Amino acid sequence: MKAKEVYVLLSDLCNFKCEHCLNSSGPQSQRWRLSEPEIQKICSDINADPQVQQIHFSGGEPSLHLDWLKLFKKNLREDVTWAMTSNGWFGSRLPSFFEGLRFDKISLSFDSYHLPYISAEKLTETALKLKDMKIEVDILFTFEGPKDLLLTKAFKDAGIPVQFCQIVESGRHDKEVHQGKSLQTGCPSLPQESRALEKINYIPGKGYTYCCGPLAFDSHREDSFLYTGELKNMGETPLYKELTSEAFLANYQNSDQSICHFCVNYLSKAPQ
Ligand code: SF4
Ligand code: SF4
Repeated sequence: MKAKEVYVLLSDLCNFKCEHCLNSSGPQSQRWRLSEPEIQKICSDINADPQVQQIHFSGGEPSLHLDWLKLFKKNLREDVTWAMTSNGWFGSRLPSFFEGLRFDKISLSFDSYHLPYISAEKLTETALKLKDMKIEVDILFTFEGPKDLLLTKAFKDAGIPVQFCQIVESGRHDKEVHQGKSLQTGCPSLPQESRALEKINYIPGKGYTYCCGPLAFDSHREDSFLYTGELKNMGETPLYKELTSEAFLANYQNSDQSICHFCVNYLSKAPQ
C-alpha cells in the first residue's frame, strides 16, 4: 500500500502548551525541527510518487514556520492539495497570513484542553474568515465524553463541521492525563475498515513513520519503525508488515489493553 497523504510535522514548537499534547509540544520545545535538506527530500519524494494526493502540515503549530511553508510551495508539484492542522492562533492576522501560500483545507484543533488558550467563539470567528477565503475548514475535536458536546455548540451554530478524533496515548497525555486509564478503541493511524495505511507521518530529524503516537514519539524502539528511504518504497517497512498482519489484529482483539499500549508491547517483543 502506498501513501495517499503525507503528514509533515514541522517542529514541536507551539504557542500553546496543552496538557494532552501527544508529542509534548510547547513554547520552549526544540527537540525536533525540520531542516531545509529535509524539505527538499520530502518534496522530491512526493514529486516522484504520483499516488500522493495531499500534504498535511502539523506540529507543534505549523503556522509558526511561514518560511518553511513557502519553501514547500516553491518545490512541491502543483497538483498536490494542501492541508494543515492548526490551533488557530493566526486568526487576527487573516487574510494576509496566507498570502503566497495555497491552502485548500485547514483543520482547527480544539477541545477542553485548548480552553486555557482560546475560546470556541474566537475559533469560530477564525473558521468563518477562512471560509470567506474559500478554504475548506473544519474543527478537529479530541473527544473524551458527552460533556465535550457542549463545547462544539458555537461551531455547529455557525455551520462549521466538527470532526471528532480520539485521544492518542502518547507524549504529555500519556504521562500527565491518561495515567493507565484506557480510552482508545482503534489505532489513529490505521482505519479499522480497510486496514490500509494510506497516511504517512514525517518526523523532523527522524524520517517517515506510519505511527502518529508512541512508536513515533516515545518508544525506545522508535528507530525500528522509522524509514528514511524513498517514500514510494515504504510498503516494505517492518511496521507496515506488523500492523497489517493477521497476528497483530488477532492478538489485539484478545487483549484488554488500549490499542497503543498493546501495539508498543506487542512490537517490542517482535523480532527486530
Ligand atoms: S495539542 Fe496542539 S495546540 Fe496544544 S500544545 Fe500540542 S501542538 Fe500545540
Ligand atoms: S502505537 Fe501502534 S496503535 Fe498506536 S498510533 Fe502508533 S501504530 Fe497506531
